[in-house]
Amino acid sequence: MPKGSRIERLIRPNLAAFVGYTARKSPETLEGKIEVPVERIIKLDANENPYGCSPRVNQALATYPNINIYPDNGQTELRKLLAGYTGVAAKHIVAGSGSNQLIDLVLRLFISRDDEVINCVPTFGIFRFSTELCGGTLVEVLRDENFAIDVKAVKAAITKKTKIVSLVNPNSPTGNITPRRDILEILNTGLPVLVDEAYYEFSGETVAPLVGQYDNLMVLRTFSKWAGLAGLRIGYGLFPPKITEYLFSVKMPYNVNIAASVAVQESLKDIDYLMGTVKAIITERERLFAELSNLKWLKPFPSRANFILCSVPGKAREIQQKLQDKGILVRYFDQPLLRDFIRISVGKPEHTDTLVKALHKLEGGTQ
Ligand code: PMP
Repeated sequence: MPKGSRIERLIRPNLAAFVGYTARKSPETLEGKIEVPVERIIKLDANENPYGCSPRVNQALATYPNINIYPDNGQTELRKLLAGYTGVAAKHIVAGSGSNQLIDLVLRLFISRDDEVINCVPTFGIFRFSTELCGGTLVEVLRDENFAIDVKAVKAAITKKTKIVSLVNPNSPTGNITPRRDILEILNTGLPVLVDEAYYEFSGETVAPLVGQYDNLMVLRTFSKWAGLAGLRIGYGLFPPKITEYLFSVKMPYNVNIAASVAVQESLKDIDYLMGTVKAIITERERLFAELSNLKWLKPFPSRANFILCSVPGKAREIQQKLQDKGILVRYFDQPLLRDFIRISVGKPEHTDTLVKALHKLEGGTQ
């Protein structure tokens, strides 16, 4: 029972001790607190695209005439475009305000009080957030020392209350891929499986073509990472057609705004340009990995996404803080399964140069 004022006592009891999701702070909040001006900050903490969006997006948004009109609630054109991009028919597709919104919608559709969601940890935090918001329980199955999932343990964790198995592929924040045979084995349990492919364009591996064959497979994607549209909030999911219908009935009306729809349209017209930036990020990821491997006090994990997780025994916090003082933002983890880790998003070559120089300087200064 929530304590405190009368109004506080009326909130849902299961939310009284709810711990929210900690989103990244905006660089502006560091104004005056670090050694460089805000505009010189190198932001490598949220896996955004350092090359930005397609210039076509900026041009189209600057002159778009119908901002006073609500978007198409049925997402007809958008779903057609996404069908063209994914090769999966429009009847399977629902778009959302970021793929986070779709994670939340799917969990709302399936999870009520005491239902269970199996999650292979460490992984992306939103699954815990939305499961608990729905009153469900997150059942955590540990990954191994290289962050591979344990399919046997996933199967052993299934109970009568299990409603969904969620799987991030490539996983965040670890960057590794789950082999297709493992996903198939989990799919063959018959339980709904939610595969989050937010970083698909960087890994090239997907189970999207299987959506038409399995009535328990759901795949989520986003335009935030590869297409540089994180600020516009646009993602989509591929679902069994029946689930698409349910999601349309439970989603908020007009959940994808006009700017996001226009941005998808223009991005898909400029796919060669965008895939060029994806390729540049993949090349840079390998160079960053090699550079990080030269530092004895840090261990980078191989990644198929646009970031690299590093174990920094005893000094992850110190390194993150000192980099921040220099205007280089990286993500710091201090959780039971990720003690003393930092995650570095892949930037442009000049970002890698500045970061690596700073890390070498810190090497002498840390104890
Ligand atoms: N899934 C994963 C694994 C992510 O890392 C992220 C972004 N942090 C998302 C989903 C959410 O992406 P979006 O911006 O589309 O909500």
